[in-house]
Amino acid sequence: MQKRSFGPTGRRLPVIGQGTWNMERDDRARAIAALRRGLDLGLTHVDTAELYGSGEVEEMVGEAIAGRRDEVFLASKVLPENASRRGTIAACERSLARLRTDRLDLYLLHWPGNHPLKDTLAAFEELTQAGKILAWGVSNFDEQELAEAVAIAGEGRVACNQLLYHLEERAIEHAAMPYCEEHGIAVVAYSPLGSGRFPSPRSRGGRVLAELAAAHGGTPRQVALAFLLRRPSLFAIPKASRSEHVEENAAAGDLVLSEDEARRIDEAFPRGRRRPGVPTL
Ligand code: NAP
Repeated sequence: MQKRSFGPTGRRLPVIGQGTWNMERDDRARAIAALRRGLDLGLTHVDTAELYGSGEVEEMVGEAIAGRRDEVFLASKVLPENASRRGTIAACERSLARLRTDRLDLYLLHWPGNHPLKDTLAAFEELTQAGKILAWGVSNFDEQELAEAVAIAGEGRVACNQLLYHLEERAIEHAAMPYCEEHGIAVVAYSPLGSGRFPSPRSRGGRVLAELAAAHGGTPRQVALAFLLRRPSLFAIPKASRSEHVEENAAAGDLVLSEDEARRIDEAFPRGRRRPGVPTL
């Protein structure tokens, strides 16, 4: 499993982590076993949120990491509606209780909201000083919103921006990703497998993925993840509630595409025109 520096945190993280959105809908025991299998395979960056299953998913993650907390880089998110200065601290305390831990490795603002950003970031810094979070970042921020966060907090404070990024949605490559790279902010690709809508093997792009997969003795999804991870600022957090999916995704962390192979994918899944803002689901 390739590892790389995660933004300014000084931590080296596996390029592939584990998402947990909608996991409350999955078979609970199987999903928890899949998360644990992921930890066995080095998928130690586990991403959750107070939003997911209204807290139920954080409880599942708490169960999955019980007895293994020190292996895990644990990330959760505060909802924008809770992200006042006091609300952020209270939301974090609730997440810690559900996750049955005393600290988060990373705490994110889930998307920009109506509470002043300076209040949310002041709460993040207060939580950091108290040792309840070790780093903080944002999600679904475009380059202007990121610039505001950097202006408030200073350079080297925003650990990451978690953004929608998959083969058929490459809009962040125009401006949000370059901004992150210029400022040493990690880019965490969410829904990296298209949130369940992966290119059909019969499509033109699907055929390119199949051909490259065969050349590497891998699978189209592994090739897709390797393409997303081709830049050193990038991490991906595919969600899988089945151990066989986790195993397939973990193996993508060792697959490296040649420049020529990446160019073929780039042509088959063009990044499209620049649009305002960042794409979301
Ligand atoms: P995703 O990871 O792109 O796709 C998940 C779907 O793909 C699930 O149905 C899963 O099935 C399936 N899958 C995973 N690995 C597979 C494999 N090897 N073969 C076949 N199918 C496979 O979608 P996502 O859940 O939308 O995004 C990933 C994570 O990003 C989320 O879980 C969440 O943590 C985060 N996220 C963040 C935001 C945000 O606003 N910050 C938004 C969306 C998502 P099984 O479950 O059956 O294994």
